Amino acid sequence: MKTEPPPTTPGDTTTEQVFEGVGVGPGIAIGVVHLHDADMVSAPEYRVPVSRIPAEQRRFAQAVTAARKQMSLLRQKARRLPAAAGEELGYLLEAYDQMLKGSRLIRGVEHRIETERVNAEAAVRREIEQLVAAFASMDDAYLAGRMVDVREIGQRLVRNLTKTSTRPFDDLPRNAVVISQELTPADTALLDPHHVAGFATQAGGAESHTAIMARSLGLPAAIGVPALLRVARSGDTVVIDGTTGQVILHPTPETLTIYRRKRAEFLRARRALGRLRDLPAVTTDGLRLGMMANIELPSEVDAVLASGAEGIGLFRSEFLYMNRAGWPEEEEQYQIFRKVVERMDGRPVTIRTLDAGGDKLETSLGASMPVNPALGLRAVRFLLSRPDVLEAQLAAILRAAAHGPVRILLPMVTTADEVLAVRSVAERVKARLTRADIIVPSTMPPIGVMIEIPGAALAADSLAGVSDFFAIGTNDLTQYTLAIDRADDAVAHLYNPLHPAVLRLIHFATGAALRARLPVSLCGEMAGDPRLTGLLLGLGIRELSMSASNIPRVKHRIRRLSMTKAEDHARHVMSEYDACRINDLIAAF
Ligand code: PEP
Ligand code: MG
Repeated sequence: MKTEPPPTTPGDTTTEQVFEGVGVGPGIAIGVVHLHDADMVSAPEYRVPVSRIPAEQRRFAQAVTAARKQMSLLRQKARRLPAAAGEELGYLLEAYDQMLKGSRLIRGVEHRIETERVNAEAAVRREIEQLVAAFASMDDAYLAGRMVDVREIGQRLVRNLTKTSTRPFDDLPRNAVVISQELTPADTALLDPHHVAGFATQAGGAESHTAIMARSLGLPAAIGVPALLRVARSGDTVVIDGTTGQVILHPTPETLTIYRRKRAEFLRARRALGRLRDLPAVTTDGLRLGMMANIELPSEVDAVLASGAEGIGLFRSEFLYMNRAGWPEEEEQYQIFRKVVERMDGRPVTIRTLDAGGDKLETSLGASMPVNPALGLRAVRFLLSRPDVLEAQLAAILRAAAHGPVRILLPMVTTADEVLAVRSVAERVKARLTRADIIVPSTMPPIGVMIEIPGAALAADSLAGVSDFFAIGTNDLTQYTLAIDRADDAVAHLYNPLHPAVLRLIHFATGAALRARLPVSLCGEMAGDPRLTGLLLGLGIRELSMSASNIPRVKHRIRRLSMTKAEDHARHVMSEYDACRINDLIAAF
């Protein structure tokens, strides 16, 4: 449980303060706070002498012209989209362009440069803050939505003025610990683990995409840490314990000694587990399990190979669409997929088609915010509404499949019709590529579905009829079964994949796959928790896919387990209906 720390004074650098959050990326980070303002690109604020005001006005005018050019390029791209989507995006870009043409925003900034004698970045920031405050007080959902647009334009202008900040973490000091209200998955993807020691955020839940990204990058991280921003200041010394979720600001020398020792122990244990790399994941009674890796970014392939994974069980493709204005072309995607397939050298690579929506990429694609992102036009639904995006991605995957074993995985499937629709697009794309003499495999790669919606789990037998494999996604399955937003810190304590309802759905879907003789893996975060390995094997799961960093620990567990005991344990757990009792059984096993 999170606790509110005692009231503290910002800037008090003498007293050690401990904050409790949720640990999401194991390990210990010891470093220097870098406060990150996710809402606005960081930019200096300074006074401008009267004589420099015309020059500052010109600098601002240039930033506006650059922004209008960017809008015009985006509009050209939008015209190539299918009618409805192109029109929608076109309207939005048109509105942005209007905002850049002598609107209240632009006039306001010009006025502030002149009267407040500040640099253009500061004038933009102040004007945006005032506009947003005015919108917020109107109590109108439509206008509240426009706040996002005003901020977007403001950020674009500041980026153009500073000419640097499209990659917001480029200038971090070594050993920086990023502290922010929130980090989007797109922000997290930009953190370079060689520079950043870890991060902590006030918002966010344990299974959010941001948390998963932290584990993938091997970054110690704590999220959902209350009150942190009230006291932390850039430059403060800080410790993050990514296992317990504790954040310690201004640690005493004694605390630092303790955490340096903990960090050394953690690294030692990790090295020891590394020795398991070439040993098989086999139970004491001889059952061999598949150990696969989940990746978020192509750069993780090194870690995957070092972990001893037998393949990639889940390659999330969202990174391709992050931190950019337009859509990635087929060729760019093909080159990236091909490299991963070649580097995996004959081991299977399961590429998941774009899972836009929910906590991923909801605003960065230029689409307007759905009423309820988690239940809206997410993942396969979105792709089926955008055949151009789907076709480009399938073509890239099919071409990459000519270089090694590839499987295609569809996220958020609810009905067999969705799978059939994607299959027919895939066949069409394959035929088109073949006609153009582009090399693709002669047979269609296996097409599988994520089982991550309760309805899909309950209809697993009907989905089995149209799928080549299942991948059970317990992160979303838990979210949708329990109606708990996986990214919301307010309900993080209620998010429990061990709830009997979730376990029953996993059991049922696994049974349906086994009856249909379909390969089934589990690739949610549960797969990487060695405490749950016995239960999952006992429920019939034979392949696990997880963050590469978890593979050694889970393999270590499997090599000490017997299937007889695992099945017994699973029977016990499944006969319980109380989540607390289930927790006790797991702890005791
Ligand atoms: C899941 O939902 O369990 C899953 C593996 O997919 P993601 O975390 O990318 O939503
Ligand atoms: Mg999911």
